[in-house]
Amino acid sequence: MIRFEHVTKRYADGTTAVADLSFEVTEGELVTLVGPSGCGKTTTMKMVNRLIEPTGGRILLDGQDIAAADPVELRRRIGYVIQQVGLFPHKTVLENTATVPQLLGVPKAKARARAAELLELVGLDPAVYGGRYPDQLSGGQRQRVGVARALAADPPVLLMDEPFGAVDPVVRERLQNEFLALQKSVRKTILLVTHDLEEAVRLGDRIAVYGQGTIEQFAAPATVLAAPANTYVARFVGADRSLKRLAVTPVEAADLTAAHGTPPAASVPLGASLREALAVLLQEDSGRIGVTDPDSGELAGVLTTEGVHRALRRGPLQDA
Ligand code: ADP
Ligand code: MG
Repeated sequence: MIRFEHVTKRYADGTTAVADLSFEVTEGELVTLVGPSGCGKTTTMKMVNRLIEPTGGRILLDGQDIAAADPVELRRRIGYVIQQVGLFPHKTVLENTATVPQLLGVPKAKARARAAELLELVGLDPAVYGGRYPDQLSGGQRQRVGVARALAADPPVLLMDEPFGAVDPVVRERLQNEFLALQKSVRKTILLVTHDLEEAVRLGDRIAVYGQGTIEQFAAPATVLAAPANTYVARFVGADRSLKRLAVTPVEAADLTAAHGTPPAASVPLGASLREALAVLLQEDSGRIGVTDPDSGELAGVLTTEGVHRALRRGPLQDA
């Protein structure tokens, strides 16, 4: 859906923000870009909606080179959510949310009805909040309006730059949680930037770990945590508590899928740590291992990296 081919951005002052980036985000996938400040995450994102033009390589959206697209038309297909939200201060919450559809010619009443639905969807009662102005909202509520507004034009693609960065940790976790539930129903293709590995792991179907302007590893969160591609990624990941969580989170029945077809070659017992299970899983070319009942020794189900990811998502949310 979004495909980077050898993309480089060198700014006028000679700074190379990203160099020779190649990766692909598939339809309905949420990819998180994570890395330290200044590593090129925002530059990567802004090239997708042509707020920044690459100096080399090309970016394809749905198979088409975006360099040939009209930027205005392009941005209609791409929702954009930023940390500062950028709500219009003199417009109400409902008006803010309905802005883009109205610009696109949707009749006012219809745009507002849709805006009300979306506010409901992000957990803001339109009857209570629709008539408020942005400065009458908390940071977390403003962020929800930002997400509702980005969804209003129903774009297939969403770009989110540190969308939950400006709110406190408790609210952030709730927003992340709600956002995951929302994404389950809307299935947008999403690039989400964060400097927080915990957030990248929780939200991403896959993670791109940035070094200085390059992607050091692009893989499922569980793989990044359990099998860092190099010492840079190992150090980045090692500094985070996500990795430690692998050691203390047990494999549970809810993480498993039904066993059918050839029985898996290797297995671990229910209750084994995710770290143990992953160590075995990563040895298996089939990408699946058996999980056995520790009492009877019988096969209880099959664990895949998706199951490990589900378990990782469960872990921190339970802490809250
Ligand atoms: P991140 O979002 O990961 O913090 P950015 O993409 O914003 O990183 O920036 C990547 C690098 O490019 C940084 O070194 C930054 O200083 C530089 N940079 C960003 N914008 C410009 C610009 N307009 N002109 C020159 N250098 C820039
Ligand atoms: Mg940035």
